[in-house]
Amino acid sequence: MAASIDKWVYRFGNGSADGCAKDKAFLGGKGANLAEMAKLGLPVPPGFTVRAEASELKGKLTDAMRKEIEEAIAHVEKGMGRKFGATSKEASALLLSVRSGAAISMPGMMDTVLNLGLNDALVDQIISDAEGDEGTARWVLDNYRRLLQMFGDVVRNVDMALFEAELSRVKEVAGVHSDVELKSEHLREVVEAYKGIYGRETGSPFPQDPWEQLYEAVAAVFASWNNSRAVRYRQINEITGLLGTAVNVMAMVYGNRDDDSGTGVLFTRNPSTGEDMLFGEYLFNAQGEDVVSGSRSPRPIAELEARSPELYAELLATVKRLEKHFLDVQDCEFTIESGRLFMLQTRNGKRTGPAAVRIATDMVREGLVTKEDAVARLVTPQHLDQALHARLKDPAASEASLIASGTAASPGAASGRAAFTAGEAEAMTEKGMAVLLVREETSPEDIGGMHAAKGVLTARGGMTSHAAVVARSWGKPCVAGAGSLRVDASAGTAVVHGTSTVLRRGDWITIDGSTGKVYLGQQPMAAPEAGSGELGEFLSWVHAIRRMKVKANADTPEDAARAVAFGAQGVGLVRTEHMFFAPDRITPMRRMILASDDAQRRAALDDLEPLQAADFEGIFRAVNGAGPVTVRLLDPPLHEFLPQTREQQATLARSMGISAEEIRGTVESMREANPMTGHRGCRLGITRPAITKMQARAIFSAAKRAAADGVPVEADVMVPLVGIRSELDNQARLIDGEALAVFGPAAADAAAASSGAAAGGDSEPATDKDIHAAAKAAAKAHGVVYRVGTMIEVPRACLAAGSLAETAEFFSVGSNDLTQLCFGYSRDDAGPFIGEYIAKGILPSDPFVHVDEDGVAALIEMACKRGKAVRPDIPVGVCGEHGGDPFSVHVFDRLGLDSVSCSPFRVPVASLAAAQATLLAAKRG
Ligand code: PEP
Ligand code: MG
Repeated sequence: MAASIDKWVYRFGNGSADGCAKDKAFLGGKGANLAEMAKLGLPVPPGFTVRAEASELKGKLTDAMRKEIEEAIAHVEKGMGRKFGATSKEASALLLSVRSGAAISMPGMMDTVLNLGLNDALVDQIISDAEGDEGTARWVLDNYRRLLQMFGDVVRNVDMALFEAELSRVKEVAGVHSDVELKSEHLREVVEAYKGIYGRETGSPFPQDPWEQLYEAVAAVFASWNNSRAVRYRQINEITGLLGTAVNVMAMVYGNRDDDSGTGVLFTRNPSTGEDMLFGEYLFNAQGEDVVSGSRSPRPIAELEARSPELYAELLATVKRLEKHFLDVQDCEFTIESGRLFMLQTRNGKRTGPAAVRIATDMVREGLVTKEDAVARLVTPQHLDQALHARLKDPAASEASLIASGTAASPGAASGRAAFTAGEAEAMTEKGMAVLLVREETSPEDIGGMHAAKGVLTARGGMTSHAAVVARSWGKPCVAGAGSLRVDASAGTAVVHGTSTVLRRGDWITIDGSTGKVYLGQQPMAAPEAGSGELGEFLSWVHAIRRMKVKANADTPEDAARAVAFGAQGVGLVRTEHMFFAPDRITPMRRMILASDDAQRRAALDDLEPLQAADFEGIFRAVNGAGPVTVRLLDPPLHEFLPQTREQQATLARSMGISAEEIRGTVESMREANPMTGHRGCRLGITRPAITKMQARAIFSAAKRAAADGVPVEADVMVPLVGIRSELDNQARLIDGEALAVFGPAAADAAAASSGAAAGGDSEPATDKDIHAAAKAAAKAHGVVYRVGTMIEVPRACLAAGSLAETAEFFSVGSNDLTQLCFGYSRDDAGPFIGEYIAKGILPSDPFVHVDEDGVAALIEMACKRGKAVRPDIPVGVCGEHGGDPFSVHVFDRLGLDSVSCSPFRVPVASLAAAQATLLAAKRG
């Protein structure tokens, strides 16, 4: 790529620039915005940017590049009226800074060298020209020692600590605390010591030729693109596809020139709260890195206002102009040299979630941006997540207590005392303690404890594990698959593998489900902003913009109501199995599974039906016409409902009047080697039709009751794990039969009669289609709309989607199972190797988190196309966990899907991603 470039160097300064803000890809964020600021006529020290593609050359600059650089230096010299490499009194010396800057900011990851061009002769010359002025002598020696240190570190890898130790020693001998108190004689001593360190560590003296310094520094900064810190940062933040870092060479201006000088960083609005006021820090008499490096304590920017009101006013006007120009909060670096302001950098400011929402709504109100623009650019899905959940107050400060990490499975942070069983969690909560449930992995039996706990931490499993799915549905933080934890529930401990840390029952821990981190102790928290007026206003814009519908996965009336309040257009998935784990249901459920004859089974189902119907009715009422309620028939293998411990087995045996051995025998006989591909989904409903019938009756009787009270009801009945049309037909027949029974047996006769009439008066048996139509008509007469549809979650369903659409009135993609079955990765066991796959670059990301575009999304696209070819208006949605993942939402929007469904707390996030996808599609045209 580099070979085809004929212009490497882009100049800026003196009111003009070769590049502009749009050139970020090759000039980097810093270079592009310096060019833009220069074009705006803002006070930017002149300089130039070398294109990022040069990173590819690993610092080996070509002759052509050197020539362009030399010409550009002449331009800088002219702009500053100073000369690079000058040592005479006539021309004052030009010093240069060399800074990195990639297209995406990677704060502090790459390198910077300041004060290039200084050498022994120039330092002596400047001191002698100053004729005994201590300020000048101090200043030039301070610059020189910084150059020696930064050049040594960045270009020659000299250990920074050696320099720091020397500086501390001189300060101690001089009896001063801060650098600024050092006199020129002390700094001279520091310089001499630094030269000694440099010579000893590198085996050669510090280069005295300014050009050699410059070229070596430029090469080293290019090379810093690939230092281990930067590589790791890009991995963690999933930054890919960049050309490298550009290198910015700029005339030095001196914040350490005198007491009328200084340097600072600021945000044009408060990045924590969003408040519209300058927020920043300033160091009087200091240079560049002092503020960011934390070597001295900066002062609030307001002190600059008190000391130099005019300068402050100029600064304020300049940065507000930048905010207006970039239409976003700006994060700026500036230097004041002897009372003169220079802008060194500007970029869009990073902010917290609550601040992002406030800034977006304020900027719309101020007329700076449109609502669409605010939705497209000013708030990210991560910001919304943050605004809706508690978070760590200061993640950097908590880092010292970090003990493990896993998948960021359900956002928000929580602290609590460790409980290692569900029972413990409930008992401790009852005593008024805040609890975090720590498990190897959770099972449906743990839900009581999970519900009691403030959050859930597991050692195994990933984004679609039981713990993750359930925690998300309740909006509780969850870190799943923290693989270094060795949990021993019976001992009440978790050992952090490879360390001496042991977590005991009752110990305080904190989890951050937004980052997947686990900390020891009770870390300070910041509260969520949920319910603030600004958030509601922002979300109303989001909902108005998005094309795709957003529904919620909800299993209770409370969850459904919460989801609707967040803007959900109905419930896209009711996982009915979750209803069976409540204490009043698990026993009849178990009796149903263990029944030895039909009568027993029917009796157990009769007990369950009114309970299910009550749940469904509650959900219909909570949704209240906001959209359809999609109820999935029973999906998990039945053995998941059976008691696993001897104690539970004995209790059940007593209540059923059978022996514990008999129960143990059944549990044993139902054990499956691969339960996820075993006797589950519609396979259950086909082999145990009584379950499907009971559930269908419960749905329809609930719908009828709610509709009778005037509640608008759309009931979508969904068959899970279908791969063959005849599976769906089998279940649809049962469902329609129950609809007819509930909404009026007369309708069944009418259906038979009309189909007979259509066939010429003979008593032809009614077809499935006739019965379905008659049942729907009967339901409609009661104010109920119902549809029968299927999940698309086995690859065969995608291939056979055309034939499934003959029967199905809607498709809902179960992307969790589809990912599992497409890859052949077990949802429950893939965690450990997926982590390694990502680390080795074999997978770009966890396919259970971000939908796999090449494989799984291609299958979904096929299902959608084939289904719509047969039934053009068939709604196609996604109800797997990907439905709440912003990356996947964009993919689904591109595929033209109609809706996504996700846990209630992710509805705002998925909605924002959907709205951003709509705006992006409109922009692409
Ligand atoms: C799915 O497979 O994506 C799905 C929604 O069903 P579950 O996660 O309950 O298997
Ligand atoms: Mg599934």
